[in-house]
Amino acid sequence: MLRLHPWIFSGAVARTDGDPQPGDSVLVCADDGTALGWAAYSPQSQIRARMWTYSADEPFTGDMIAQRVLAAHARRAGLWKQTNSARIVFSEADGLPGLIADQYGETVVMQLTTVGVERWRNEIVHSLAALPGVVSVFERSDADIREREGLGPQVGLVSGPPPPPEVITTEHQWRFSVDVHGGHKTGFYLDQRHARSMIGELAAGRSMLNVFSYTGAFSVIAAASGATNITNIDSSAPALATAGRNAILNSVDVGELLDADAFTALRGLRDRAKNYDLIVLDPPKFAATERQIDKATRAYKDLNLLALKLLNPGGLLLTFSCSGAMTMDLFQKVIAGAALDAKRQASIIDRLHQPEDHPVPLPFPEAEYLKGLLVRVD
Ligand code: SAH
Repeated sequence: MLRLHPWIFSGAVARTDGDPQPGDSVLVCADDGTALGWAAYSPQSQIRARMWTYSADEPFTGDMIAQRVLAAHARRAGLWKQTNSARIVFSEADGLPGLIADQYGETVVMQLTTVGVERWRNEIVHSLAALPGVVSVFERSDADIREREGLGPQVGLVSGPPPPPEVITTEHQWRFSVDVHGGHKTGFYLDQRHARSMIGELAAGRSMLNVFSYTGAFSVIAAASGATNITNIDSSAPALATAGRNAILNSVDVGELLDADAFTALRGLRDRAKNYDLIVLDPPKFAATERQIDKATRAYKDLNLLALKLLNPGGLLLTFSCSGAMTMDLFQKVIAGAALDAKRQASIIDRLHQPEDHPVPLPFPEAEYLKGLLVRVD
């Protein structure tokens, strides 16, 4: 924390004075008694406290919430010329551990994941509602990680009129339907903006398999960019229905929509000797914690092995991991192992990371979770 890292793990706490309650601001002191700054106390979490400030003279206040939300929003100013949607608050990366806020046009979707931000709920809602262009604030605090803080799910309108059942997000010339009430996360995978731009350059003349397609964003852009035929696989029927809707919104044909388990479907395609020129693999988080990394590594390898076998010579694999515990190094090794077992020669053409509205503070590498490789097989 002397190095401006925001987390204090339970094992690092020698003593707790007084009787702080969940979400209280506590003064953090080093072994020698030097006061280091103020933190939000989370007695149920392994991450026992999250730093609000790095100075004992600077207790945390509601005004700081408003300032930090405004500053975070201002940092994204450059994005609005290409999109009406962005992650406007990214937790620790914006000095607000536990707060996620995604803006979709006039609607902000907020997610509180810690008792520390629960304590400041009213200030957070007011700060988000006061941002320029914001009409509604909707809460989607239904992520499992809340359980680690002893918090149950909380979903609903918190400010302004209810957002419409379909919110439209725009990105360059593309339009996507977002269900902020019930879609995954806050409704859309804002973190794949870079990859969406890239797909447009890769798809022309290629047959494409979009695995874990969700609402078909990659397929919409690929179709418009000249992909010859597309198959989408996802196990969520509502997501695939929205993919159909996105095809209409963008006047393209996104191809086949297959409601299936990806592992089973990929084996089925292999057995039918189907081949593709471009395969996208964007699975959900297989490792939620460090402890699950071995099991997750096997799943990533199986998946990539199956995909590599389905590629035509010269074909491209755009493959991702959004597990924080999976480093880029390890991910590259996993893909190398998969290629070896698939008996395919393959090279890395490009690497992808989460975009600029999901920044990674230098003292806090844990913020980095999304990584991707673009691989070409011979
Ligand atoms: N590529 C998408 C985001 C993918 S998120 C985009 O750009 O928008 C991961 C997706 O995997 C979710 O849509 C989820 O429904 C789907 N999913 C999770 N487990 C699955 C499984 N076993 N088989 C198929 N799809 C699965």
